[in-house]
Amino acid sequence: MFDWLSKYIFYPIWEIKDGAHRLKYLRELTDSQWWNVEQLRQKQWIQLCTMVKYAYDHCSYYRSSYEKIGFDGVLSSWEDFYSLPLLTKSDIRENAEKILSDRFIKSNLIKAKTGGSTGHALTVYFDQKCQEMRNAAAMRSDRWAGWDMGMKVAAVWGNPPVADTFKKKIRNIFLDRFLYLDTMHINEANILDFINNWRSENPKILFGHAHSIYILATYLKRLDIKDFRPQGIIATSMMLLEPERRVIESVFDCYVTNRYGCEEVGLIACECEKHSGLHLNIDHLVVELLKDDGSAALSGEEANIVVTDLINYGMPLIRYSIEDKGVISNQVCSCGRGLPLVDRIVGRQADFLKRLDGSLVAGISLIERTLTAIPGLAEMQLIQDELERICVKVVKDSYFNETSESDLRRELQLVFGKQMQIEINFVSALSQTVAGKHRFVINNIK
Ligand SMILES: [Zn+2]
Repeated sequence: MFDWLSKYIFYPIWEIKDGAHRLKYLRELTDSQWWNVEQLRQKQWIQLCTMVKYAYDHCSYYRSSYEKIGFDGVLSSWEDFYSLPLLTKSDIRENAEKILSDRFIKSNLIKAKTGGSTGHALTVYFDQKCQEMRNAAAMRSDRWAGWDMGMKVAAVWGNPPVADTFKKKIRNIFLDRFLYLDTMHINEANILDFINNWRSENPKILFGHAHSIYILATYLKRLDIKDFRPQGIIATSMMLLEPERRVIESVFDCYVTNRYGCEEVGLIACECEKHSGLHLNIDHLVVELLKDDGSAALSGEEANIVVTDLINYGMPLIRYSIEDKGVISNQVCSCGRGLPLVDRIVGRQADFLKRLDGSLVAGISLIERTLTAIPGLAEMQLIQDELERICVKVVKDSYFNETSESDLRRELQLVFGKQMQIEINFVSALSQTVAGKHRFVINNIK
């Protein structure tokens, strides 16, 4: 009953009070997800031409960089677009003021700071309309996981917002309806508190960082709690490891919906109810997967993700190299949505370790391979501060035995070669970033 009131009464009232258009955008996106891919591409092309011309006219950074290559801001083909220069994180860091549009006053834009976990913060801005459209896109994808507005949500999140004002408290009671487990303080007492809250509030959705949800699942398993049955689980903000996904799904008897996005451009891709890859949000973005030489990757190839934001007129980001890697797919999803698929997100470029010969190893694959195969390893983190040495932090579980450590060492030595020094340290818990995220791999060498 309260869910219904929240969705049909409180939410629309709040929307009118805010003068916002999220629900209108949500209706549009709910409709367009069923368009065929040609219709979606057509709309995307018009948005792209408009955005590139706008950036040329209103952002001095793009004007000067495009003039250097003789481009006048008018796209006549996709080839024109593919020949535009890429935008890197350091380009944004060094030229933020010039990338901002002269049509907006900076103080009226919404500011987001990102990238803290890599040690290189990045500040970006976006306009109000853009934020509402992004919210609507997230709501569309939330629905694929069974989460509709107004539902009670259990969130496993770092530094959750505190409802410290009357307005925020009202909002939390009637609209957002979250109960939190703060991932900055995961311990037995807080988990038991969270479990009690869960029992009294009965949330329908579980939402949070993938690894944090996994930690919660392992606690519930240990406590033999089997009656938590959310109707949807959304894992976001970090890599979802396959072994962890399996544990979460078995503990809650519910599929995990994996989604991928970032502060700079919002939601990029999300699984639908079929869980056969992630649908790209091409209503709002152009997403390219490029090989290191800049050419387009083929289906199944691992490549760098490059995005163009089609809705942020406050600070246009065009051909932004996000420093993540993914694998594009040419499969068509059986759900019938026209939004194309990315097969999987492989990791951030910083999530790769280096062999002595300079070749790279994807940390996520390495962790999956060892965590799954070797008994006794509950959690792991790999840190490379110098080329010749890899430090491994391991949290043991009750299956740890006399061969676990030597098996792990042998496996890593197989991947990195005998010359690589492997240092294994056992810890009681892994440290987190300031945002409460876990990082499986930290590569501090360039
Ligand atoms: Zn689908």
